[in-house]
Amino acid sequence: PAAIHVVGGGLAGSEAAWQIASAGVPVILHEMRGVRGTDAHKTDGLAELVCSNSFRSDDATANAVGVIHAEMRLAGSLIMACADRHQVPAGGALAVDRDGFSDAVTEAIEKHPLITVVREEIQGLPPKEWDLAIIATGPLTSPALAAAIQVETGEDQLAFFDAIAPIVHRDSIDMDICWYQSRYDKVGPGGTGKDYINCPMDEAQYNAFVDALIAGDSIGFKEWEGTPYFDGCLPIEVMAERGRETLRHGPMKPMGLTNAHNPTVKAYAVVQLRQDNALGTLYNMVGFQTKLKYGAQADIFRMIPGLQNAEFARLGGLHRNTYIHSPVLLDKSLALKSRPGLRFAGQITGCEGYVESAAIGLLAGRFAAAERKGETLPAPPATTALGSLLGHITGGHLVSDDEPGKRSFQPMNVNFGLFPDLEPGSIVKPEGVKRFRGKDKTVMKRQLLAVRALRDCASWLDRG
Ligand code: FAD
Repeated sequence: PAAIHVVGGGLAGSEAAWQIASAGVPVILHEMRGVRGTDAHKTDGLAELVCSNSFRSDDATANAVGVIHAEMRLAGSLIMACADRHQVPAGGALAVDRDGFSDAVTEAIEKHPLITVVREEIQGLPPKEWDLAIIATGPLTSPALAAAIQVETGEDQLAFFDAIAPIVHRDSIDMDICWYQSRYDKVGPGGTGKDYINCPMDEAQYNAFVDALIAGDSIGFKEWEGTPYFDGCLPIEVMAERGRETLRHGPMKPMGLTNAHNPTVKAYAVVQLRQDNALGTLYNMVGFQTKLKYGAQADIFRMIPGLQNAEFARLGGLHRNTYIHSPVLLDKSLALKSRPGLRFAGQITGCEGYVESAAIGLLAGRFAAAERKGETLPAPPATTALGSLLGHITGGHLVSDDEPGKRSFQPMNVNFGLFPDLEPGSIVKPEGVKRFRGKDKTVMKRQLLAVRALRDCASWLDRG
C-alpha cells in the first residue's frame, strides 16, 4: 500500500506512525527538529517530554488516566511500552527517565522497516498527493503550518492559547445552597431556562473572595510577554485587581437571578457554572479563567458557597497552545470534514497531556491504516477511556448558545466525568459492610467504570 504521511514526531505522531506500521502500512514521518526547534523542546529526539517526566497515575482500577494507560497497552502502544521500560520510581504514578524514554521511541521508529523519518518542517497543508496524512504538530506547531491550518479551517477555528475556567464535577456541588436557573430564565436553543448552576454570595463573602483572589499566588507572566490579553479573556484575579466592583459587574453579576432557596434575599454576587459536557456530569465556572497556581485555586474557589466540597475535573489556566475547534471541524475518525484524508492527532485536537496526546495519535493511526486497507474501523465505545476522550474531542461537548461566536471547547485531560454514567442500580452496598458513605460510593463507581472500560476496550480491539 502507499505510504501515509505523519507530520510531527512528538507523543502523538510517534504513536500514530507506530500503529500504522504495525498494521503493515508504510509511513513517512516528517519531524522538523534537527532543522528547526521549538520554544520548549531541547533535543532532536522523537517523543521528547517537554516538561514533567510523569505519565500520572498508573492505577487502572480507579483512575481514568490509569485506565487509558491500560487500554493503550492492550492496543500495543509504543509510547506505553517505552515508558514501562524506562520507568523510574514514583509511587503510584508512572514516571520515566526522559532521555531513555525518548531514545527508545526514536530507535524503535527509526529501525522499523516500514517507517521513514524525514527531518524537515512542513510549512503548509500536506500536498494533495499525500492522500492520507495526519497532522500531529502539537501545541507549538510552527507558525507557517499554523497559518495554513487557519486558512483551511477559518480564522476563528484555531486557538493559539487556552484560557481555561475550572471544571467541577457536578455531584460535588452542594445543591442545598445552589440552584438551577438561566439569567432572566432565558431559554436558548435546546435550553430549559435552567441551564446554569448558581452559587450566591452576600457582601461579606464577596469581599473576602475578592481579597483572596488579589492575595492569591499567581504564576508569573513571563510566558506572556508581548502577548496581549484577548478581549473577554482576562484572568479573574486581574479583573479583581482592577477594582472591587469589577467582578460584580462582570462574570459575577447577580442580575436576573433569584435564589430558589431564599427568594426574598437578593444575592450580592453570583458565580455561575455552565454544563460542560453532553452527559451533564461536568460544569465549568463561567468567566473564571485564571493564572492562579493550582493549590491556590482549589482553596479560593472552595470559598464559594456551594463549592465548599468541589472536586475539580480540571483547574483553570492560561497557556500557549495551538489547537483546533475539533467538535466542529473533525468527524468521528479525527478526519477534517472539509478534507477527509487529512486527520489530526495529539494536543492540537484539544486533548491535554502526554498520555492523552499519544492516545489520540494511537486512534488516528489506526483509523488511517484501516482506511488505507479499505476497512472501516468503528470508534472505540464511549464507555472506554479512549472512546470518552475521543467523544470530548469530536462532539461530546456543548457549544455555548448564549454567547454567540465564543469558543466553549477547551482542552482537557481524560477523567471519569467524560465517561457515560453506570446503569442505574449498579452501585450497591457490599454485603457485610456497615457504613457505606458517599466517599465509598465514589470509589465503587470509579472501580466499576474502570472495569467496564477495560472490558469494552478489549472487545473493541478484538473486533477491530
Ligand atoms: P509534541 O509532543 O509537541 O509533538 C509535536 C511535534 O511536531 C514536535 O516534535 C515538533 O517539533 C513537530 N512540529 C511542529 N511543527 C512542525 C512542522 N511544521 N513540521 C514538522 N514538524 C513539526 N503535558 C503533560 O502531560 N505534562 C506536562 O508536564 C506538560 N508540560 C507542558 C509544557 C509545555 C511548555 C507545553 C507547551 C506543553 C506541555 N504539556 C504537558 C502538554 C502536552 O502533553 C505536550 O505538549 C505533548 O508533548 C503534546 O504531544 P503532541 O504529540 O501533540 O505534541
